[in-house]
Amino acid sequence: MACILIVEDNPVNMKIVARVLEYAGHEVLKAAEAVEGLRLARARRPDLVLMDIMLPGMDGVAALKELRADAATARLKVAALTAYAMKGDRERLLEAGFDGYFPKPIRHREFIASVAAMLSGGDSPHGSQQGREDDG
Ligand code: MN
Repeated sequence: MACILIVEDNPVNMKIVARVLEYAGHEVLKAAEAVEGLRLARARRPDLVLMDIMLPGMDGVAALKELRADAATARLKVAALTAYAMKGDRERLLEAGFDGYFPKPIRHREFIASVAAMLSGGDSPHGSQQGREDDG
């Protein structure tokens, strides 16, 4: 399956999202703040980054800009993971350059399906994810 980096400062959200992804068979990398997230993104080149927006220190939008500005990480798929549920936020985040948007709290099945769609769609730095396993 895929390697997915979660950048999330809320330990409860981190635990839930990580468990759901691991249960779906993904390898999960975890960072509780943006600088550590950037370090892991550069070192591991995950197939997908799930980026919280409200983070201590550097926020998720600034972290995305850092990723896009670095040739090593510019093409990583990055989705916003945020409690912002207000109308207009999705458009705002996609305009900021995120490849997708996941509102919190996540709905497990919808979330896993959306993650799978993101992983299979478009170009990935690791090549397209061809192997599809219908086990969830
Ligand atoms: Mn947060």
